[in-house]
Amino acid sequence: MYDYDLLVVGSANADLVIGVERRPAAGETVLGSDLVVHPGGKGANQAVAAARLGARTALLARVGDDAHGRLLLGTQRAAGVDTAGVLVGGAPTGVALITVDPSGDNSIVVSPGANARLTPEDVRAADALLRASRVVSAQLEIPLETVEEVVLNLPSGTRFVLNPSPPRPLPAAVLAACDPLIVNEHEARVIAGRALDGSPEDWAAALLTLGPRSVVVTLGAQGALVADGEAVTRVPSVKVDAVDTTGAGDAFTAALAWRLGAGSSLPDAAAYAARVGAAAVTRAGAQESFPSAEEVAAL
Ligand code: ADP
Repeated sequence: MYDYDLLVVGSANADLVIGVERRPAAGETVLGSDLVVHPGGKGANQAVAAARLGARTALLARVGDDAHGRLLLGTQRAAGVDTAGVLVGGAPTGVALITVDPSGDNSIVVSPGANARLTPEDVRAADALLRASRVVSAQLEIPLETVEEVVLNLPSGTRFVLNPSPPRPLPAAVLAACDPLIVNEHEARVIAGRALDGSPEDWAAALLTLGPRSVVVTLGAQGALVADGEAVTRVPSVKVDAVDTTGAGDAFTAALAWRLGAGSSLPDAAAYAARVGAAAVTRAGAQESFPSAEEVAAL
């Protein structure tokens, strides 16, 4: 009865990457490597990750009427994402200007551009898309009011998954809709609004008191932890040679959301997502690194 296994509501960015010997000081110019442009943004990343696994996926996002917007639409479609919900225009496509030095350290300037113009009204206009989707996932690279509107308009029976990244304190109504709230350690701290002591089990317990129906804490190479009411489950990571962890969290979230919609329990969905996250760190890049279902099975 659902047309889509997963609707991702979120950001789409062009990541413009230049390698530099060192970063310029104020007023200085330095020469860098050839420019490389990658499709990115947490929303676009999640949509590609889910579609590559075989999920029927749609994206609700906004890009500019420009070359970067066309690049992003093209990579979404090539991955099999339905882009009918991607709005075009209103501002330039979101851009991340990234310089990377020889030690691999990044400096990043983000221009949210069209992502900041994805409005609550856009969500209301996409009502049919929301109704056609079994699971909806969001992140915080779009306005918080837009995410709030998603929660307000969520059809009964549709599951909501949130990765609050970049993190900021969340309204109670958004927290109450999350099933699960997916956070890493830094995000957990910001959402909780305080330093978190003890083990990841303790952080999850502290987050549950804020109202989400369930919590998943991602722990990088240590895997993840699932807290669903009284039941707390550790999800082991898969041992891999990590090359680049960019996008691992996005791949994890997309995979988990998809498996939940397919009827998996939260621990089983998280275990599958951990395999997807592990596969994604074995290759460079974000969207370029996301595995197919066959690659996950072979891991
Ligand atoms: P984020 O990028 O949001 O901080 P993580 O780095 O925790 O998220 O990665 C998300 C998930 O991807 C982890 O919970 C884990 O399952 C998997 N993962 C990440 N890094 C590794 C790694 N080095 N080895 C194996 N799995 C990893």
